[in-house]
Amino acid sequence: MSKSILIAGNWKMNKTWLETQEFIETIHQNKIVNETKAHVAICIPFPYLLSAKNTLLESPIKIGAQNVSNKEKGAYTGEVSASQLKSIAVDYVIIGHSERRSYYGETDALVNEKIKITLQNNLIPIFCIGETLAEREEEREFDVVRNQIEFGLADIKADELANVVIAYEPVWAIGTGKTATSAQAQEIHQFIRSLIAELYSKDVAKGILILYGGSMNAGNARELLSQPDINGGLIGGASLQVSDFVSIIEQAGG
Ligand code: PEP
Repeated sequence: MSKSILIAGNWKMNKTWLETQEFIETIHQNKIVNETKAHVAICIPFPYLLSAKNTLLESPIKIGAQNVSNKEKGAYTGEVSASQLKSIAVDYVIIGHSERRSYYGETDALVNEKIKITLQNNLIPIFCIGETLAEREEEREFDVVRNQIEFGLADIKADELANVVIAYEPVWAIGTGKTATSAQAQEIHQFIRSLIAELYSKDVAKGILILYGGSMNAGNARELLSQPDINGGLIGGASLQVSDFVSIIEQAGG
């Protein structure tokens, strides 16, 4: 496959420490994962990041966090800073996931601050956007995505954008078993890429990775990943079992 592909797992708040160790050790030894041309990351709960990173030091599998503070340091009880994540060699950070937007009130302005601080610390943000079911039913998906991108990427320069991954995750498809059809996903991905071309340049738009997220699984990954503007997947439920996740990786990159 010639286009660059990233397959990133999002475990959310799942797995105990023992289950995590078992998963990491198994996937670490997996031949398909070790030989794939796709880039692979797993975004796991904070307590497990350091140990997973240490196990995977020589592995092509990268490690990601699922959230980060918008503050640099100090009296912010319960928060984890980008510099702390960087200090344990985390690679990616999921920012603006719809669960954080809806359950924890994260706004586009906060998401923008988090993306900036993540980039300042040389971590790669996986910037999540996507419309709700109501917004799609009102045919507002393009406006919603445009707003999320314009506000979320405010003041971010073209050279910085090269280190941003965008994940289009229609909220109605997350954890619901309902996947966007490949045509629906491609349509929005193409729109996002053209928007990046309009806001930045054609070259920046060509290079940016745009992942699809929303019930991607071993049964639908190939079709979704074959779309020209889909550069990978952000995978929740199907990243929790090694066999499902590896199957998606195999379909993504051989
Ligand atoms: C996600 O949480 O980013 C996600 C896409 O979840 P799922 O694959 O379970 O829909």
